[in-house]
Amino acid sequence: KKTLLRHLKGKKTLTSDGKEIKLFANIGSLGDMEAVLENDAEGVGLFRSEFIYLEAADYPTEEEQFQIYKDVAQRMEGKKVIFRTLDIGADKQTDYFGMEKEDNPALGYRAIRICLTQEDIFRIQLRALLRASAYGNIAIMIPMVVSLWEVHRTKQIVEELKEELNSRGVCFGEIELGIMIETPAAVMIADLLAKEVNFFSIGTNDLTQYTLAIDRQNAKLDMFYDAHHPAILRMIQRVIECAHKEGIWVGICGELAADKSLTRTFVRMGIDELSVAPGCILPIRKKIIEM
Ligand code: PEP
Ligand code: MG
Repeated sequence: KKTLLRHLKGKKTLTSDGKEIKLFANIGSLGDMEAVLENDAEGVGLFRSEFIYLEAADYPTEEEQFQIYKDVAQRMEGKKVIFRTLDIGADKQTDYFGMEKEDNPALGYRAIRICLTQEDIFRIQLRALLRASAYGNIAIMIPMVVSLWEVHRTKQIVEELKEELNSRGVCFGEIELGIMIETPAAVMIADLLAKEVNFFSIGTNDLTQYTLAIDRQNAKLDMFYDAHHPAILRMIQRVIECAHKEGIWVGICGELAADKSLTRTFVRMGIDELSVAPGCILPIRKKIIEM
């Protein structure tokens, strides 16, 4: 089947109206880079940086992180690589973080909430990303945003770090800042959030969990976990409209992005980017081109 799609490599993904859709890859480690390049990803739309933390026995140092981010950026040769900052907590736990057991981990101490509480951890990661941005086209993406102030605070920290690097004479490149839209709150203030960031990426896995009030980990609820629910599709539509009104691009990086039964719907809604498992890129390109 792969050989049949080989002719699609190196091609742009253009809709019948001539709009280009960017097809990016979701990855969790350097080990996935071969699949990213092999499947002609036009960028990395979601690098789940928490796997660097989950695979380590202790907090990864700035230097360790820098080497990984730099390596990925260099191998993408100028194509965009979107690193999601630490999205740990809830389903993703590790011993050295010493996190307390919670009654409602999905609603608990996780992701940006950890980063803005333990800023030292956040600063190490952001500094590593800024330094790596001198070697490629890097973007930073913040998970689990619910409020404007989280974005303001993150931007403030990034600015402080840039000043610090400047004063030390350390190079860094242009770096876009985006957010995941994966909570109903973020959807409802997407018009305001769009004024603050360079892009949106819709995380349909968590957005479905939080909107339908269904634990995404609970297999017993599978028949109720409906990512095609009209509530989700309306949210996606709204987020795309809010983004475009402010002139920023918007993608989807949750599992739904690879659902070919919705590709036509997403294109009609005006989606700019879909970030999927590397193996799904060429099949979706085929689908869009033939639409
Ligand atoms: C999502 O929530 O849709 C997402 C892409 O992030 P994760 O699956 O890592 O929570
Ligand atoms: Mg998520």
